[in-house]
Amino acid sequence: MSYVELSVVVPAFNEEESLEAFYDALRGVLDNAGVSWELIVVNDGSRDRTAEILLQLNRRDSRVCGVLFARNFGHQIALSAGLEYARGQAVVVMDADLQHPPEMIPEMLRLWREGNSVVYTVRSYGPEISKLKRWSSDLFYRVLNKVSNINLIPGAADFRLMDRQIVDYLNSMPESARFVRGMVSWLGFKQVGIPYTAAPRFAGKSKFSLTKMLRLAIEGITSFSTRPLRWSMYLGFFVAVSVVPYSLFAIYQHIFTNNTVPGWSSLIVAISFLGAVQLISLGILGEYVGRIYTEVKRRPLYTLERTIGFTAGIEELKKAA
Ligand code: UDP
Ligand code: MG
Repeated sequence: MSYVELSVVVPAFNEEESLEAFYDALRGVLDNAGVSWELIVVNDGSRDRTAEILLQLNRRDSRVCGVLFARNFGHQIALSAGLEYARGQAVVVMDADLQHPPEMIPEMLRLWREGNSVVYTVRSYGPEISKLKRWSSDLFYRVLNKVSNINLIPGAADFRLMDRQIVDYLNSMPESARFVRGMVSWLGFKQVGIPYTAAPRFAGKSKFSLTKMLRLAIEGITSFSTRPLRWSMYLGFFVAVSVVPYSLFAIYQHIFTNNTVPGWSSLIVAISFLGAVQLISLGILGEYVGRIYTEVKRRPLYTLERTIGFTAGIEELKKAA
């Protein structure tokens, strides 16, 4: 197996319009930078011509390899799969839509060679990014940092360079709930950030629906914190304690006064409040139990249709890793 200094891992879901332009831009930058590189595109069950284009690119340039999922497994899983196949001493993860400028890679390589294990990028938004996306993203990072033991920088998403050591660690982490940016932050080592402004998408629409973003947010919080469980317990205690004086008051009213019938409204309020608290607590509990269930099943992270361009068989590759 020939020596590869840099692997670029790119998850792609219905990116037929962007993939070729992305490859051209990447090749321009990397060939100029004088590194030996490979590009690993993980086709996340695209329903368009992404796989076909990938095959053509591989025929043209054998440094382009493909990992083809049998269906859509989501961005974080695609990214994890790409990392398993990457052979480089450094691995850059980026999007296929040219929102992550390949021109930044030489600078990332420089910082890596200076001894940083992770070079992450901090995005600031261009004017074309919607208010809703900015707001929801900011809120997400604020909540996650509050409730978890990790500290993520707002805007530091999945465009980063990682040293081989980091990638090996990630590959050895067995959880099926993959919140990769949290996992990288959890690992530690020397990490450095560089700012950039995200470009508009090269073509097509965002492949991240609101439900996909919400799922990612819940994944992030539950993977790195059990504090919501504790909070629901505190809430229970709080309600229980505040109910005591109220009950005393109600008993007093009943025994010493005649105006007990008008208590109907406060009763309704108390019942619905308690009901809501119980449902929320049960929901949080259920979320974690569900996660234990998925982890315990130990299913493979993804199913593979085929790979393109890897010289060694899958088993050999995995063994070599
Ligand atoms: N993507 C993927 N699987 C998915 C959704 C997205 O592999 O289920 C890829 C997509 O092709 C792109 C990257 O993840 O390369 C980021 O997605 P997108 O640009 O749509 O997200 P946004 O930049 O809008 O957050
Ligand atoms: Mg994008």
